[in-house]
Amino acid sequence: MQTSCPRCGKEVSEDFIFCPFCGYQKERDEKLSTFDTAKILLGSFFLSPISLYWFFKYYKNPLNKKIAYISLVITFTVFVLGIITAVFYIKSVNSYLENYDL
Ligand SMILES: [Zn+2]
Repeated sequence: MQTSCPRCGKEVSEDFIFCPFCGYQKERDEKLSTFDTAKILLGSFFLSPISLYWFFKYYKNPLNKKIAYISLVITFTVFVLGIITAVFYIKSVNSYLENYDL
């Protein structure tokens, strides 16, 4: 089976480690450790929406796809909840100011 090198685009064997044309080294598809998984899931919660980075980094890797999508869901949920909280906060401050005409 043939695939194309992600850097130079030339045809290379599917199980290539180094591209013979440009020297590109294929990233090994390693499964994330428990520590990294925990880091990503906690990061998705606390660093939303920056944690989208992990989704784009890992979603192509079949071994880590599931974690990437869980991270995406957490990131998105926290982001939406953050916006809702902010809207409610602004509304309550507004109604406070209206009620107590300062
Ligand atoms: Zn190449």
